[in-house]
Amino acid sequence: MRKDDTALVLFSGGQDSALCLVWALKRFARVETIGFDYGQRHNIELEVRKDFLLEIKATLPELTQNLGGDHSVDLSGFGKLAESSLTREREIVFNKTGLPDTFVPGRNLMFFTAAAALGYRRGLMNLVGGMCETDYSGYPDCRENTLAVMQEALNLGMDAHFTIHTPLMHIDKAQSWQMADELGSMALVELIIEHTHTCYLGVRDKRHSWGYGCGTCPACELRAQGFAKWRAMS
Ligand code: ZN
Repeated sequence: MRKDDTALVLFSGGQDSALCLVWALKRFARVETIGFDYGQRHNIELEVRKDFLLEIKATLPELTQNLGGDHSVDLSGFGKLAESSLTREREIVFNKTGLPDTFVPGRNLMFFTAAAALGYRRGLMNLVGGMCETDYSGYPDCRENTLAVMQEALNLGMDAHFTIHTPLMHIDKAQSWQMADELGSMALVELIIEHTHTCYLGVRDKRHSWGYGCGTCPACELRAQGFAKWRAMS
């Protein structure tokens, strides 16, 4: 197996990174996953991500033959440094820069640096993330130009040849439900509904047609609207 046939997926347990994982499984000969504990204010995502990996192996065995190890990385020190409403019990508000204070400064830069350090050691030169420019939030570290320069910085700084892949960069949430259907049919759509988590408030006891969550936070709204739009067009 050539080393450039291997990939490391930044897998958080959310809808987008779950989809990226399946995208990578279809594209690369071997795929590993990495997840970060950065002191999120609820541990739901970290629990859900383990469930999702077990469930996808059980439900879609033919798709997951090339799924290798999962790596869990403690970045809680970074979370303390970069406190925001994702890492503290606070209401989600938009600050004066126009960014919601769910923005954790430098988060994706930190994630890619940590992923590249692991990838360097394990020969995983394709790094895959679910960043998306069409998110409501406009997080600057989700933008394509940020990540292009990040790739260059990693390759210069580690004297390596990483490629950062962001398959969801230009699609909206309706199209990502569509993509799930195309990559893994309704079995994958149902897996994403049941075993991924996006709600900022960590609500897991309210089940909607699109999955679990409070239904009113910005992440739930985006997920629900995307789902409804996809159902209407499919
Ligand atoms: Zn929510």
